[in-house]
Amino acid sequence: MLSKAASIVIFLVGAITAYSQLAKERSFDVQKVGDGVYAVIRREPASFWFNANNVFIVGKHDVIVVDANITAAYTKEVIDALREITDKPVKYVINTHWHEDHIIGNRAYREAFPDAKFVGHRSTLKDLPEIGGANRKGTLENGRGFVGMLEASLEKGESIAGGAITDEERAGYASDIKFVSSYLAESSTFEIVMPDVLVDDRLTIDQDGRKIEVLFFGRAHTGGDLVVNLPKEKIAITGDLMVYPVPLLGSTSYPLEYPATLERLKALGGRTYIPGHGPVMKDAAFLDKMIALATAVRDRSKAAYKPGETIEQMRSKIDLSDQQKIFAGDSRHKGFIFRNYVTLPATAAIRGFLEKTHTAAVPN
Ligand SMILES: [Zn+2]
Repeated sequence: MLSKAASIVIFLVGAITAYSQLAKERSFDVQKVGDGVYAVIRREPASFWFNANNVFIVGKHDVIVVDANITAAYTKEVIDALREITDKPVKYVINTHWHEDHIIGNRAYREAFPDAKFVGHRSTLKDLPEIGGANRKGTLENGRGFVGMLEASLEKGESIAGGAITDEERAGYASDIKFVSSYLAESSTFEIVMPDVLVDDRLTIDQDGRKIEVLFFGRAHTGGDLVVNLPKEKIAITGDLMVYPVPLLGSTSYPLEYPATLERLKALGGRTYIPGHGPVMKDAAFLDKMIALATAVRDRSKAAYKPGETIEQMRSKIDLSDQQKIFAGDSRHKGFIFRNYVTLPATAAIRGFLEKTHTAAVPN
């Protein structure tokens, strides 16, 4: 039989192991940002794959959640964290947009809270099955190859951007491998939960006296970006309209409209911003940088566009190195992200939009 002291030691070791296990497994921090408002901020490093931040808005009787995660398994970890805060049920899950890193985990909320309703922009009904469906198919076909490329790069100690791999790239690739692998592992059981409460321009929710506004300011990161604004608490949950450290202006985005949409977000006034990816921000400094970036991308691309020229000819006239420096600094990894998530897709998207306008304007 164990002595009392020995059993206490064993209990303590067990408790500490369980706690550190929990701390080790969780790749997010839960930060209280207002009365009953908690931001779930991902800890994974910036790289090519993403997992969304989340927000819990806890009321007297229920909880409103902003955004799910890239898999139901990740979302279940977030729901466990919510249950440590409250046992109240989730009434609404607001998806800020239809990208999979914000929406695949909806299913975990539906399983845990069968009465939960899902709020999304009306364009989600079309964009999630059509563009999202095509993207998903591409990921399922190419995901394994992407993981293989990153694994080979780690193995050989070579950056995919060329040269010896840096610690930052190692951490980024390892995170990407984890995300893609968990996505592929779950993909055979994916169930896409579509919104059942649709927003066009605005939806106001009264959560037992707390006013929650779900606002559409125009197209930017996608065709249906929603901002969740808490006017009294002065908190804006921006989805991927704001992403730190490198913004996502390119693929499935509307870079010609992005600056105006961000200006409308800024017009809400000084507040705390919770971005789709990145840390909680207490002022508009980063938003201002993003407005300057989006404006530079729009104006320089428009100035460089000439009907009939190739995308390479157009790009040869666009220099965004000053902007890359602001968001990526001297980091090769972040520079590579900037090139692949801003420069290349945004210039291609803008050329596509201008091409359409030009063709439409030419009489046949
Ligand atoms: Zn995202």
